[in-house]
Amino acid sequence: MAVQRTNTPMPKPTLPTRVRKDDGLDCEICGARMQERSCKITCRNCGFTRDCSDP
Ligand SMILES: [Zn+2]
Repeated sequence: MAVQRTNTPMPKPTLPTRVRKDDGLDCEICGARMQERSCKITCRNCGFTRDCSDP
């Protein structure tokens, strides 16, 4: 009895590529793009502002 081995490569799960935004942050309130200006990061969507020194 011949055992036929199929060496099928397992498909690798596609991991989502994390794109690092170098010139902006996402608002933690609404998720919109925030704009950094003179150490103040302001959300142009909801107006949320935070200091750039904050983690
Ligand atoms: Zn926002």
